Amino acid sequence: MPYSSLSDIQTRLENGETTAVAVAQTYLDRIAAHNDALNAFVHIDTEHVLAQAKASDAHRAEHGARPLEGLPIAVKDIFCTQDGPTQCCSKILKDFHAPYDAHVITKLKEAGAVLVGKTNMDEFAMGSSTETSAFGPCRNPWNTDCIPGGSSGGSAAAVAAALTPAALGTDTGGSIRQPAAVTGITGLKPTYGRVSRRGIIAFASSLDQAGPMTRTVKDAAMITAAIAGHDPADATSVADAPMPDWLAACDAQSMQGMKIGKPKEYFVDGMDADVRAAVEAALKQCEALGAEIVDISLPHTDKAVAAYYVIAPSEASANLSRYDSVRYGHRCDDPEDLLDMYTRSRDEGFGSEVKRRILTGAFALSSGYYDAYYLKAQQVRTLIQRDFIEAFKQVDVIATPTSPVPAFKLGEKTDDPLTMYLSDIFTIAVNLAGLPGLSQPCGFSGGLPVGLQWIGPAWREDLILSAAAAYESATDWSKQTPEQFSPAGGDA
Ligand code: GLN
Repeated sequence: MPYSSLSDIQTRLENGETTAVAVAQTYLDRIAAHNDALNAFVHIDTEHVLAQAKASDAHRAEHGARPLEGLPIAVKDIFCTQDGPTQCCSKILKDFHAPYDAHVITKLKEAGAVLVGKTNMDEFAMGSSTETSAFGPCRNPWNTDCIPGGSSGGSAAAVAAALTPAALGTDTGGSIRQPAAVTGITGLKPTYGRVSRRGIIAFASSLDQAGPMTRTVKDAAMITAAIAGHDPADATSVADAPMPDWLAACDAQSMQGMKIGKPKEYFVDGMDADVRAAVEAALKQCEALGAEIVDISLPHTDKAVAAYYVIAPSEASANLSRYDSVRYGHRCDDPEDLLDMYTRSRDEGFGSEVKRRILTGAFALSSGYYDAYYLKAQQVRTLIQRDFIEAFKQVDVIATPTSPVPAFKLGEKTDDPLTMYLSDIFTIAVNLAGLPGLSQPCGFSGGLPVGLQWIGPAWREDLILSAAAAYESATDWSKQTPEQFSPAGGDA
């Protein structure tokens, strides 16, 4: 059971073979047994989880099942939840309790999901390794000396080790797809505007998007269908976005005649040889399934990381100015005056990566430098968007590696922010262009999972879901489980 997909658990619940309470208990037992080794969850309220499961069983009996009835879903500590703390894994939000649920949390509750707890993440979602968390680093279930990716590393590790069958993450520059890739699970970043950002602690508002992290492609579609949709309270959520039937797209499982773009800029010297080989082999397999592989170019790809690391910190410096210790958050002891209170509280509350982003962003936005940095970065962003528009005139979807390297060792890149930033070299352009992107497992490098990334035109999650589902059913990469966390003893 623990390594079952959401849709398998759903079938068993529907057939009366199990109950939401029994399912919840299975995962609570897994969490109790394995969370110390992984540090994937930073908050669990066992009683509350069981109470939700009990209420779900009662709902099923009295009114029938809702789309996610009784299914356990963990959420990154970036989502505001009325129940329990919401700390964004930062000292500055220590013990903060949100007064309302994020829109996506409300949607999950309305769909009948059982919320399992809060997962570990890089502080304020800034990072690629879940090492900047105020709760300590999270570890990769495939090798606990390695990072689980970031910033949604806790969600990824929790799904990969079956401490939950599914989780929510957020993705500003790769934070759903990159951890999904390095832990061997599936992660989908929807089109920007598809999912409301209300109640998601803001990092870079023009890039942030929430999405599912799951064992299968169909599970990702199920959760996306539940959380997507217009929210009048978020001006960036789009009102009349097309909403195709994503579950049907997964069931179609056909690649016959599909044109898959292979961008030359994503297969470069310096990337891990086994990652490259695994992705090349995946594309060969897609060809055997009836797809046509088309060599394409996205010429401004090499400018994406630089543009992102101007735009994202600029937006972060504005968003994080709200942490002034006046209304909420950490406040220093015995401030001398107002300025001392602001500066000391922020100095004590924020970690060094967050400070680096605030300083970079404030500098890029300052008068005299705005044109040279921020404006320039926005112009580059337009060029990157145009690259994709041109490419999608030739192909239906694009396939690339998700990350240039498999999971690296804890501590390996913490002293070198630039090398850390390059972890997202293949995911960032997708955020800058606002497109949907999905990562799914496609092989191993040195015993560590490798991710295949699918990129689609705006609003065409259905295309990448159907390509990914076809690939998934033709291979068994998504069925692999990390040995150290395989079900043993009585918890199967
Ligand atoms: N790793 C990137 C960063 O540090 C992206 C993070 C994210 O997507 N939240 O900004």
